[in-house]
Amino acid sequence: MFTRHRRLRTTQGIRDLVKETVLNPNDFIYPIFVVEGENIKREIEALPEVYHYSLDNLEGVIKDVVEAKIKGVLLFGVPDEKDGIASSAFDENGIVQKAIRKIRELAPDLFIITDVCMCQYTDHGHCGVIENGIINNDETLEYLQKIALSHAKAGADMVAPSDMMDGRVMAIREILDENGFENVSILAYSAKYASAFYGPFREAAGSSPQFGDRKTYQMDPGNIRQAMREIEDDIIEGADIIMVKPALSYLDVIRWARDKFDHPIVAYNVSGEYSMVKAAGKMGLIDEKQIALEILTSIKRAGADIIITYFALDACKWLKDM
Ligand SMILES: [Zn+2]
Repeated sequence: MFTRHRRLRTTQGIRDLVKETVLNPNDFIYPIFVVEGENIKREIEALPEVYHYSLDNLEGVIKDVVEAKIKGVLLFGVPDEKDGIASSAFDENGIVQKAIRKIRELAPDLFIITDVCMCQYTDHGHCGVIENGIINNDETLEYLQKIALSHAKAGADMVAPSDMMDGRVMAIREILDENGFENVSILAYSAKYASAFYGPFREAAGSSPQFGDRKTYQMDPGNIRQAMREIEDDIIEGADIIMVKPALSYLDVIRWARDKFDHPIVAYNVSGEYSMVKAAGKMGLIDEKQIALEILTSIKRAGADIIITYFALDACKWLKDM
């Protein structure tokens, strides 16, 4: 006597009925890169079919996002001016602050999340303030507070610190609350690894470190218990949602976090994960659509509630056709 497991796979109907993990547009956050200038929609070479948009060209992509029923976007700014303390990151007329106001106008109900970090805005490309060649954690917190507050003032719904400094979630929560933004939430890049999968993003954001690397603040890919400690502390400090980044090589981290914590989990399906699929698809080595949907399904199955992905718009189209 043996069990006929295949009975539940005989037709598409029954396969759909017993499917445990189903993707839908509510699973996705779409990242958007904004640049200064006019009439710019420029494809990012390392991220095929992802673009730099000037503010006057945001309307098309925001319309696509709303029509796809994607509920949230994550904004990254690429400023014209950089300096040692990322001044353009907390300027009320900085590129992200202007983009928030523009998107709010275009799509009042769209949930706007902003990346809070210094690396795109510093001339040295690191995520914090440099003193004597090293990153000063505690001084950096003051700048992260300024950046987060300026995003909240511009109308962001949620701020997402991606710097990996210690204590930044607490510092940001404090400054937001002190200024009447107690309803602006925090998505913490809690378990962010020092990963080579970020390569294409650095071209997109112009954020490569000019010296050294990010291994003194981002995590070692070999560590998972340490990731749980990072997540736990971010929750204690006031994070509303926690993140594991990258996603695909870190599905075990997502699963551990899911089993251990009750907070919503975001996984960032990062640039390298996306561009590998795009490149292999273009070369005819794989079926891009099938691979992308399988990857996104596996990230959700591992325990992610939300996936930040450059595939979001395509995935919504593909899911509609299925
Ligand atoms: Zn950074």
